[in-house]
Amino acid sequence: MSEEEKFPVEISPVYEGERIRKGDMHVELGGPDVTYKWELVQAKSMDEVEDGKVNIVGPDLNELEEGKSYPYGVLVEVAGAQVEKDLESVIERRIHDFSNYVEGYMHLNQRYDIWCRISKKAFKKGLNSFKWIGKALIRLFKAELPFIEKMQVTFYTDPEKVKELHEFALKVYEARDARTRGIRDEDVDTFYSCVLCQSFAPQHVCIITPNRVSLCGAINWFDARAAARVDPKGPVIPVPKGECLDPIKGEYTGANECVEKRSLGANKRFYLYSAFGYPHTSCGCFETILFYIPEVDGFGCVDRGFKGPTVNGLPFSTLATQVGGGIQTEGFLGLGIEYYRSSKFMQADGGWNRVVWIASTLRKRIEDAIPAELKDKIATEKEASTIEELEKFLVEKGHPLAEKIKERKAALAAEEAKAAEAAPPTVTPTVTPTVPMEGVVAAPSFGGIKIVFSGAKIKVGKLTVVVEGGKS
Ligand code: SF4
Ligand code: ZN
Repeated sequence: MSEEEKFPVEISPVYEGERIRKGDMHVELGGPDVTYKWELVQAKSMDEVEDGKVNIVGPDLNELEEGKSYPYGVLVEVAGAQVEKDLESVIERRIHDFSNYVEGYMHLNQRYDIWCRISKKAFKKGLNSFKWIGKALIRLFKAELPFIEKMQVTFYTDPEKVKELHEFALKVYEARDARTRGIRDEDVDTFYSCVLCQSFAPQHVCIITPNRVSLCGAINWFDARAAARVDPKGPVIPVPKGECLDPIKGEYTGANECVEKRSLGANKRFYLYSAFGYPHTSCGCFETILFYIPEVDGFGCVDRGFKGPTVNGLPFSTLATQVGGGIQTEGFLGLGIEYYRSSKFMQADGGWNRVVWIASTLRKRIEDAIPAELKDKIATEKEASTIEELEKFLVEKGHPLAEKIKERKAALAAEEAKAAEAAPPTVTPTVTPTVPMEGVVAAPSFGGIKIVFSGAKIKVGKLTVVVEGGKS
């Protein structure tokens, strides 16, 4: 019997959309409950790679306790005459879709943020060793990317080893990201586009430029260029820039044409440096979310690793439902971390001057990108966990939006005062907001009595007002 026939589960693109819920998982590898997780591709020389080899460092799948989450690392080493360093990111990004071809193995995100699960069903069917996932990956990679001549995969579950190599992986990612910092969109004639995520978000198209890394953060302009060169029929293709219609918003005829064609007409225009008008779409694997906060007319930013609610009360997971799916949503963007370092970061919307709140987990990673004069003027959840606290913080610190906030608040107060003056005599009940209250329903026919609550936060399940004499 051949290896292929013995494979315990199916391998097919039909499993790409498979989601494994917590109750159905045998084990979780990486994910939000685990600090150390990563995946990494390294280009090697031909004699450094043993083709087809799968190594396991730490306990294998059948030695992991059911229902638990584990540190996890996946190292893929490739070699071939055409395999070069530039291709590492692009090969690495394909770990996501090829892993998802394996029945009962779910893979989300990328780089330092992977989140995988093995289903109970697949485990029972025999997916009880990493060797199967490794063999599947090697087979798929070599079939789809024939320039890979040799490939070996090592799975790490030994916590110490995962941690040790995590540090190394972060350095590799940083070195890749740093490459595009020296070039600008004006310096090139060609952008690139990727549609790898259309299996999850069918209308989504990424436009990758020197100043705008992909929202997954895994493919920058150099990576995309290398991918398009070696795999011209693959998901990454060149996009002739065309005419620049708006250098501030970042609108290019070539990018628009590509978006329209590759989204099958769903989206027609992209502003590359704005969250308004025609924002770039997002799939689901963005490293961060930038969201508009209307009360202060500024932006908040949060990364996937941030667990709590953001300043508007919504956690990353809820915001993600607003951003994803390949739909243009004004005021919401999925962004790769490196884009925060771009000289064109949100340029049409005021750039960094418009940022008012950053989750502390993200802030740690992009501190170097924040202009010096704004460093103490942007809040994290420690300074502001509500909009009221944020407004206060921004005004106190003299954020560039502070004047506007003061003006808006003054206008609002004036309006309220005017309304109160113009109103007929009022009956103001004494209300303790935290105490459940039973009162009378105030209907228009209710004898001209108006109830005004000012400066109070009141949650009302049911309000019944009873007038003396029992009339209501
Ligand atoms: Fe490609 Fe964009 Fe998906 Fe990254 S997020 S894999 S660049 S489509
Ligand atoms: Zn995606």
